[in-house]
Amino acid sequence: MSETSMSKDAPKSGDGEAAGDGRINRLRFRKKDMPGGLWLKCESCSGTIFRKEVEEKAYTCPACGFHFTMPGADRVRHTLDEGTWEELFPEIEAMDRLGFVDSGPYGDKIERTVKRTGQNEALIAGRGEVLGRPVVLGVLDFKFLGGSMGEVVGEKIALCCDVARKEGKPLLLFTASGGARMHEGMLSLMQMAKTCSALSKLNEDGGFSICVLTHPTTGGVTASFAMVCDITLAEPGALIGFAGPRVIASTIKQELPEGFQRSEFLLEKGQVDVIVPRDEMRNMLARLIDFGACRPGAAPASRTRAGAPVEPASAPQAHSESPSGSSPGDVAKSEAPETSDTPETHGG
Ligand SMILES: [Zn+2]
Repeated sequence: MSETSMSKDAPKSGDGEAAGDGRINRLRFRKKDMPGGLWLKCESCSGTIFRKEVEEKAYTCPACGFHFTMPGADRVRHTLDEGTWEELFPEIEAMDRLGFVDSGPYGDKIERTVKRTGQNEALIAGRGEVLGRPVVLGVLDFKFLGGSMGEVVGEKIALCCDVARKEGKPLLLFTASGGARMHEGMLSLMQMAKTCSALSKLNEDGGFSICVLTHPTTGGVTASFAMVCDITLAEPGALIGFAGPRVIASTIKQELPEGFQRSEFLLEKGQVDVIVPRDEMRNMLARLIDFGACRPGAAPASRTRAGAPVEPASAPQAHSESPSGSSPGDVAKSEAPETSDTPETHGG
């Protein structure tokens, strides 16, 4: 739940100068000459990795494949077809209704975070297309106060549900959150009921929703909208839970099982439907959207759309009806080709 894995500091240099000329040691030796933020430490394999390389690999570890928390804007870019993004409700801002003060006034904290991140709140919402399929997208950005859910996040999710319902589009949510925003007290907790009721209305009206749980998804977000969508996906190795493992262990006074609160553990327990690696996410989402549009009880608008032919240029490989061997050249440009592997086999 911390941002330590993406910390700006280069790894501790230790005795790099004396320890041979391995690549890592050489890099450590030279790190003093480099500006901060070039390096980060993988929280899974503890490897020292070049930040740029991680970013190029969609924020996954080049050594062990660990899926780092992805910034919201990158998530939008990585998920949607180029040029299809249209942001919704960016103007809604957080308010410090309670005059809350912890290490400093909450109002000041919001102001600083808005300036630092260039966005007004933790949820980025909008319309776009996934391999030619229109969607309403909501992405929680962990870098905005830990992706916490306050009034604005709750309101924007409810608004996204409304847009999805009215336009007959599937709703796609990505979570990365520390939970409810405690600075907003009870008002933040109320968003749990609000988001769930908005999703329930979407569901009653034949809408279709998918939530992708990413590292980390915890607290009031896990306990509300993240778990009530039609399909619950997770990225490999993501920490997903309500309370932290230490709190649980000390409360129940038992040792927790191996892999507790990780995606793979939740998949085994039936809380997650599929684990999908980041490079297969778009294909999986496109397939699920087609599935959602064809299911009984789907909203008429989505049914019409599902029957419509998909532009071959935008979705050569992901459409479930398309022949498996079609135009691999086109596929390679932006997407990994669809494989017959089940996504679960990639977890770990
Ligand atoms: Zn790693």
